Amino acid sequence: MPGLNLSDSEIAGGGELLTAFLRELEQSPATRPVFPKLDRPALSKLLEQPFPEDGIGIDRLFQEIASEVVPNSTAIAHPRFLAYVLPPPNGIAPFAEAIAAALNQNCNFWQLSPAASVIERSVLAWLAGLFGFPESAGGILTSGGSMATLIALATALRDRGREDFERQGLQGQASPLVVYASAEAHRSVEKAAVILGIGLDHVRKIAVDGQFRMRVDLLAEAVREDRESGRTPFCVVATAGTVNTGAIDPIDALADFCGRESLWLHVDGAYGALYVLSGEIRPQLLPCARADSMAIDPHKLLFAPLEAGCILVRDRENLRRAFRYAASYLTVEEDPLLTNFLDYGPQLSRNFKAFKIWCALRVFGVRAFVEAVEHTLEIARYMAQRVEADQYLELLAPVTLSAVCFRVRHADNRRILARLVEEGTAILGPVGIRGTLGIRACVANYRTGRADVDLILDRLRALSSLPLGTTAT
Ligand SMILES: *Cc1c(COP(=O)(O)O)cnc(C)c1O
Repeated sequence: MPGLNLSDSEIAGGGELLTAFLRELEQSPATRPVFPKLDRPALSKLLEQPFPEDGIGIDRLFQEIASEVVPNSTAIAHPRFLAYVLPPPNGIAPFAEAIAAALNQNCNFWQLSPAASVIERSVLAWLAGLFGFPESAGGILTSGGSMATLIALATALRDRGREDFERQGLQGQASPLVVYASAEAHRSVEKAAVILGIGLDHVRKIAVDGQFRMRVDLLAEAVREDRESGRTPFCVVATAGTVNTGAIDPIDALADFCGRESLWLHVDGAYGALYVLSGEIRPQLLPCARADSMAIDPHKLLFAPLEAGCILVRDRENLRRAFRYAASYLTVEEDPLLTNFLDYGPQLSRNFKAFKIWCALRVFGVRAFVEAVEHTLEIARYMAQRVEADQYLELLAPVTLSAVCFRVRHADNRRILARLVEEGTAILGPVGIRGTLGIRACVANYRTGRADVDLILDRLRALSSLPLGTTAT
């Protein structure tokens, strides 16, 4: 029998090595360089070395991981990793991923994944319940927010396109279908429009107000103009937590408007939706339940490891109509308890993404997530206060969630940002706010503390050769 299994002693030895590895990683996020000094010879070796005819075994594998893979990996969990919205994975995640891999359930039809099917349903129901979506709601876990928005737009096309959309697609459409999003919307909206054949000429970027929220009056104007010109508005993408500033579009007003105009309302909540866990932000996000669909990213503020996104729809039949999969070799009985997820998304074979979310919610409990999310808000506000109290720093946008956009006055912000990253203090990202180049910190790590913020701001000041400790009062 060809052996691709491990012996008893290999399982025991490998388990010890894995435990030691996880322990060290858990203890070291702040001591590892936030961005690695790349060992290019090691990376070239990883690229070029031939695979061995006879395997190297587990011990040597772990040696290679320690000497070549880890040192050339970005320290996502570092408390001063504040670029993008990229939180660290929660502690139970590696265990959950290992078990999911070992079970290897195929989450397409329920005979291949009965427990997984109800666990995914329970995770989806919990997420939908956070917003108060109705009983009719449903969804599916995806690879991320981009995929969720792609699925949402495909569902909207199927629902709001012509009767024969399934057969004719866009080719049978008498007039071009148009989608609307704010100028601050994520690139994934345009990407989805390109992939689906809608085309960038049919994506309207609506200007934002002083708080970076979509202007509903300008949206109404654009929709009217398109209708008058013979085009067919079909979908509005609102953002709950824009990627630059964390702004939340006026979801209630947009839901009213979309209802009046028979437009599909999709909410891109990839960044911000999970702030529904914060009692303070929740009221702003509850209207999301009025949307036809919403993208949520558990691999962001639910601290699930990549990849874990989610699309929720108000009426799961819409999703089923768009993605139902019929094939003679897939004959499965319907069962009220169990869901055939192949009918709710584009994939056939699917891994068990719900498991890592479910495990974390069971192990840590909901309150731990509430606290983690609220912690990110608290640290971001502290950072904003420090920026505002400092005459050499300027806040570039209001801080709604955990993104802080600011700049160092009278300095080349791009250069000092590059030097901050180079010297290994922190990773922050560049941002353009109304034509002004600045720096964006997104607090998405429950390990980030006030001292990290102090260090970053002090270093930025030092790097721009400004005196330290002088603040305007
Ligand atoms: C991260 C993000 C996305 C993309 O999500 P992925 O999971 O990276 O595909 C879309 N929209 C917003 C607002 C985001 O923050």
